[in-house]
Order: sequence, then C-alpha cells, then structure tokens
Amino acid sequence: MRLRACRASAVCPACQCISRRVHSRYVRELGDLPWEGIPVRISLQTRKFFCGGQDCRRRIFTERLPNTVLRYGRRTRRSTEALDWITLVLGGAAGSRLARRMGLLAHGSTLLRQLRRRSRSAATSRSPRVLGIDDWAWRKGHRYGTILCDLESHRVVDLLPDRESETVAAWLRTHPGAEIVSRDRASAYAEAVRKTVPQAVQVADRWHLLHNLSEALTNALQPHHRILTQTAHAIREVEAAPPAVPPAVHREPRAALVKSQNRDRRHSRYEQVMELARRGMSKLQIGRELGLDHRTVRRWMHSDGFPELKPRCRVRSVDAYAHYLEQRLQEGCHNATQLWRELRERGFHGQQRIVRTWIRQRRGPRYQPGAHTITPPAMRTSPRHTAWLILSEPASARSYLEELYRRSPEIAATARAADEFFRIVRSRDSTAWPSWLQSAKGTALASFAAHLIRDQAAVLAALQMPWSNGQVEGQVHRLKLVKRQMYGRASFDLLRLRVLNMA
Ligand SMILES: [Zn+2]
Repeated sequence: MRLRACRASAVCPACQCISRRVHSRYVRELGDLPWEGIPVRISLQTRKFFCGGQDCRRRIFTERLPNTVLRYGRRTRRSTEALDWITLVLGGAAGSRLARRMGLLAHGSTLLRQLRRRSRSAATSRSPRVLGIDDWAWRKGHRYGTILCDLESHRVVDLLPDRESETVAAWLRTHPGAEIVSRDRASAYAEAVRKTVPQAVQVADRWHLLHNLSEALTNALQPHHRILTQTAHAIREVEAAPPAVPPAVHREPRAALVKSQNRDRRHSRYEQVMELARRGMSKLQIGRELGLDHRTVRRWMHSDGFPELKPRCRVRSVDAYAHYLEQRLQEGCHNATQLWRELRERGFHGQQRIVRTWIRQRRGPRYQPGAHTITPPAMRTSPRHTAWLILSEPASARSYLEELYRRSPEIAATARAADEFFRIVRSRDSTAWPSWLQSAKGTALASFAAHLIRDQAAVLAALQMPWSNGQVEGQVHRLKLVKRQMYGRASFDLLRLRVLNMA
C-alpha cells in the first residue's frame, strides 16, 4: 500500500510549535497486519517540517504519527502488538510459525527481541503494598525459583531465578514499598524481609502453618506405630463380624428399572387419554392436550385394554453366522478377535465388539453378584495417614480414632491439641492462641509450639489478618502450565516475561 500523511500541519517535538512549512518528503517502509492472509507492506510517505519557534534549537523535525507507528519502528503499532501477543502465548519458534501462516512475517528471534524490549520499558520499580512470596519448582526437589505476587490486585509482580535470601533481599531493596509480606515458613524469606523492610508486617501463610502442623503430628505419631496397627486390627475384627441383618438387597438391573418406569409413564398417559375420551373430547383435542399424536390416541381408544409394548425383536447381523460360531466354540476357540477375523473372511461387516457380546451372551452370566462376601479393606494406619484422619475426621474413621484415643491417652492429648490448632488457624481465632500454647506444652507437639514461638509475630499476624498465599499457589499453577508448554527449554527471562505479561 502506498500511503502518505496529509495533515496540513505538524507539532515540533522540541518546542511544541505548530508548523505548516514542509521541508522535504521521504518514504518509510512498514510491515502491517495481513489482508486476507496476504502480507501487507506500507510505503508511507512522511514529511519533515521547518520549526518556526523563535528559541527552538531544532530547525527541522520529522512529523510524528504515534497512533500508526513508533519512532524508528519497522512495523505498524497494531502489527507489533499482534506479534507480541502471539509471542507471549506461543513463544518464539511456535509464534513465528503461526505468524507466518497468518501472513505476518517475523523470525522467532526477532519476536523475542521485540518482546524483551517492550517489557523492559514496562517493568515496575515499586513493590506492591501487600506482597506474597512463595517458591516454585523448576524441577521438583532440584531447583527452585521465587514468585512475587501483588495480593491486592491478584497479579504476578516478578519471578526470581532462585529462592536464596540474598536474591529476595536485593529485589526488595530495588522495589521499596511493601507494607505487608505474606510468606511461607521458610526462614530465608523471613530473613530477607527482616533485613530490607524491617517495618513491614510479616504474615505466616496459613496453608503452610497447617502443613507444618500435619508434619509435626505425623512425627509425634511415629513412635506409636504399633498401637496404630493394633487398633486397626481390633476395629477390623469387630466390623468384619457377620451383621445381624444380611445386606442382600435384591437390586433390579438398571435396564429393567428403566423399562418398568417407561411402562408406568406410558400407562398413566393411557389412563389420561381414556378419561378425556369419557368426557367426550375428540381425538384431536386429546392429542393436543396431552402432546400426543392423534393417531396414537386413536389406536389406544380402539384397543381393548392397555396395549403393552411388544418386546423388540432385533435381528443382529451376527446371527446369520450363529451356526458357524457355535461350531467354532465347540471346537474350543473362544478368542473373540480370532472369531471376528474368521467371520470377516466369510463376509461379516460388523465390528469386533458385536462378536464379543454375542459370545458373552451365549455363555450366560459368568458370576452371580453377591455370591461372595465383602470383607472391609484393611485400614491404612501409617502415622501420616492417621495424622490426616485426626485432622479431617471422616465418618468412616470415627470408631478407629475413638478406640485409638481410648488405648493411648497420650495420643488423645496430642490429637486434641492438633485439632484445636487446626480450628484456631481455620477460624482465625487469635484470642485462643495463648491458651493453646500452654496446653500444647504438655503434649508431643511441644517442639512444634516452640518453633512457632520463634516466629510468633508472623503467626499472630496470620491469625489476625485476611492475607494468605492461597492465590499465589494459583499463580504457581499457571506458571507450571507455561513452563511445560515451553518443553523444558525455557530460558528464565522468557519464562518470566510470559508469566508477567500473560494476565
Ligand atoms: Zn521547535
């Protein structure tokens, strides 16, 4: 496309004077969005103007077209933006392939360069007021990074390549402004915040508090492994004893149930028809009233009694080969795939499934349901699973837990303390905190409590403030999706760009 700028005047970028005196013309070549899949190039005739300002040092300036193209840009703004989005979603190589198919010509490395330049100019220099910090795994158990989120606007603020205290501290120094910092209970983040923004309120993340609790409870149960197993065995023997009433409730197969329901529905419809007919309504009126075809109404009125549906008699394509199949089964071949192949050679067109069903039906039901008794599966009694049972209290584990507490008062006391801490954190009941600390001292959770006291301010803040890292976990999940899409060859800076910009 050949275009030219035609506004009569232009504004000098240095002194804001308006000038109408054209100095010269030249042509800029710009890439643009494709038209009907065809790449478009624009030859844009642009002008230089004389500046008429008295004190302006710039004698000549180029007219600016900020809505169309940036200074020194080689593409129109709209095509630059389209390419940036493609790069964010797909990355360099795949983005370049898609762009090419769409008629937007750009090399992968060009896309990445352009995206990096753009995001440098958009980088933030301040920390959000309420900051959430957590780690994420490059490779689980091997290498971790740090994610920083704005908990008020629900946005990722930055990614850091590791989870070292010094890296986080450096970021906090260059991005001042955090007033509240929600973090897990890893001391690296706590230390970084304490060193760089000592005035900020630190909040221990509630999910991590509960996670630590369940770890502590698991450790506390570890020495009682034998009691856990014995209790589970005792409970199992009681529950496996034959119940007074046999649970042999005869259930109709589902197909039969549906069939009888359909018959009931049809029967009540039939009675409605006969009732309306007795009142002297015409067949057409009855049909309209009940939403039935008038021919159905007529058939029902002329039949003597309720017309039962005849069982549908289906002739299956495989039945034509019944004789052959019988013979082969007699010979001892029960392999459905093999038989299906043989039938096909004899002209059968159906699927293998049909042959399989035919053989099964001929063989009759293989087993009677309810013929064998069901023994309850063994209870899982590992300390970890028991800790989970204590904290979540499912109804199925009630008798196990009751028996366990009866056998070991020590475990009962520990479980009570764990339950209470769980309740305090879930309901954010900070008033109960001091008494919990007292009561926990006498139980196996004493060292967990001592650990919490060392971080008491942050724990109390977690019980008093609404902030938590729940949404950071969501962002970490999104980050994982982006990471996987990059097939593990993500360079850190591109991963960071994509996570930050793909809102
Ligand atoms: Zn000027």
